[in-house]
Amino acid sequence: MTMDFETYDDDNIFAKILLGELPNTTVYEDEHVLAFNDIAPQAPVHVLVIPKGRYIAHDDFHRDASDEEIVAFWRAVTAICSDLGVAAEGHRLIANQGAASGQLVPHFHVHILAGKNLGPLIAT
Ligand code: AMP
Repeated sequence: MTMDFETYDDDNIFAKILLGELPNTTVYEDEHVLAFNDIAPQAPVHVLVIPKGRYIAHDDFHRDASDEEIVAFWRAVTAICSDLGVAAEGHRLIANQGAASGQLVPHFHVHILAGKNLGPLIAT
């Protein structure tokens, strides 16, 4: 699959979830942020946190989003970890950007992974 990371794709899966065109299992929502369970979990806890704005990855999000959106996003990540009970036990945050990272969905998202020993950062 080739992907254009230059412009936002309004037909991407997470855009459709935000429009209510695809279902999701929401674990958190506010004015700026939606979080839901990953459809193919890689750990007992695998939640995706996305901004509601049209951002492709972490660079355009942090460059173009308002301070309010950025603060809301990271406060939500922290609150979700707390609500899920994985703040103290430990967890991993991952944000892929671009082809080399394996980013599949071109709408900025952070993975929250937890619930088991997650092992080394990168599989070899
Ligand atoms: P990434 O490789 O960082 O772009 O991760 C995209 C993630 O989205 C993968 O972990 C997928 O399992 C997940 N995903 C794809 N489609 C859906 C969906 N409809 N609902 C929830 N998660 C999804």
